[in-house]
Amino acid sequence: MNFYSLNKIAPNVSFKDAVIKGLAPDKGLYFPETITPLNKEFLNHIEDFSNQEIAFEVIKQFVADEIPEKELKEIIGETINFDFPMVSMEENIAALELFHGPTMAFKDVGARFMARCLGYFNKEEKTTKITVLVATSGDTGGAVASGFLGVTGVDVVILYPSGKVSDVQEKQLTTLGQNITALEVNGSTFDDCQAMVKTAFLDEELIANKNLTSANSINVARWLPQMFYFFFAYKQLKNKQKALIFSVPSGNFGNICAGLMAYQLGLPVKKFIAATNVNDIVPNYLETGIYTPKPSKQTISNAMDVGDPSNFVRILEIFNNDDEKLKKVLSSYSFTDKETKQAMKEIKEKYNYIADPHGAVGYLGLKKQGIDANSFGIFLETAHPVKFLNVVEPVINETIELPKQIKEVIDKEKESVYKNFKV
Ligand SMILES: *Cc1c(COP(=O)(O)O)cnc(C)c1O
Repeated sequence: MNFYSLNKIAPNVSFKDAVIKGLAPDKGLYFPETITPLNKEFLNHIEDFSNQEIAFEVIKQFVADEIPEKELKEIIGETINFDFPMVSMEENIAALELFHGPTMAFKDVGARFMARCLGYFNKEEKTTKITVLVATSGDTGGAVASGFLGVTGVDVVILYPSGKVSDVQEKQLTTLGQNITALEVNGSTFDDCQAMVKTAFLDEELIANKNLTSANSINVARWLPQMFYFFFAYKQLKNKQKALIFSVPSGNFGNICAGLMAYQLGLPVKKFIAATNVNDIVPNYLETGIYTPKPSKQTISNAMDVGDPSNFVRILEIFNNDDEKLKKVLSSYSFTDKETKQAMKEIKEKYNYIADPHGAVGYLGLKKQGIDANSFGIFLETAHPVKFLNVVEPVINETIELPKQIKEVIDKEKESVYKNFKV
């Protein structure tokens, strides 16, 4: 499958080159040349297929023959070797838990898939060593570090703002060793780290000497596997025969954009809701038709503190830039930290369920939309609450038991390269 740049200047490239490059040379995001709906028979019998089989059906047209079937199936098998359970709240609302991977963040799936694709391309052709450079405000770094650990031919450098990620998140970034280097930038914010990464990508001398790529959701190999979640949900809910409404806590809009791709592939969904915190660029756009990026505001759902969501252009492309068509399928609502905390309390009290702040924003999206008796609402739980202990524990007034993935990492020795940030 070939991919074109949404800036329409750079030449089209193969899946492989899109994965290796990340962003097109004209700074556009890559988008597939064609999207072919899946076979109706397959969708009508989805419950007969394993998650691995479903994932293969969903992704194969985008990879095409660039990774042979056998190897692609192996990559998928290793990527999704954990569960995606649906936890019921009330009669027609459930949480889809996407946090059962090694770092307990939904980003594990994209990071693991991308790492294995790069590993495959490197093994086949002995491409020059690739360096993945990524800035993180928390969850991306851990998922990327774990996903890429031990992949030959790939070095990973993760920049993070010293003192600004949670203890659990820091341990996940700094305790792995091998091909993973954590660069702790003193006196910086996430935006500073992000700006440093961007500067590196514009440095002609550096990019002439190093094969640099990024591992955020602009990369097609991180973005596209997120389609799987929506099919896994459909598989679990199909026999209810209700119209599905997905509420996706959104920051960079990669996950919801993958949901809208699943819709293009024929997944029967009535509505998608992009639920945001006060970084409300997209809700504003849907209301006014004007896209106004702003500096990001800090919130308790900090993985969604994004003031210029990069994947939104892909969403516009899916709908051929037709806002009326888009608005029939997508709604977007914004919520404050106060509302988010209130929702976390409500979820605990009503359903005895502990939601993390991002999942709680998703829940609020469903409540705002309203779910009638013929519909079924799913909010995506994108991280385990333990990843945001400082926020969650005081709100629910309870200590959260550490899951085994976290226990394993918390007592390990931190190792980082410490640098002072100079303006
Ligand atoms: C990254 C992240 C999000 C936002 O996902 P996008 O694809 O960037 O919209 C939501 N919740 C958590 C926990 C995350 O780590």
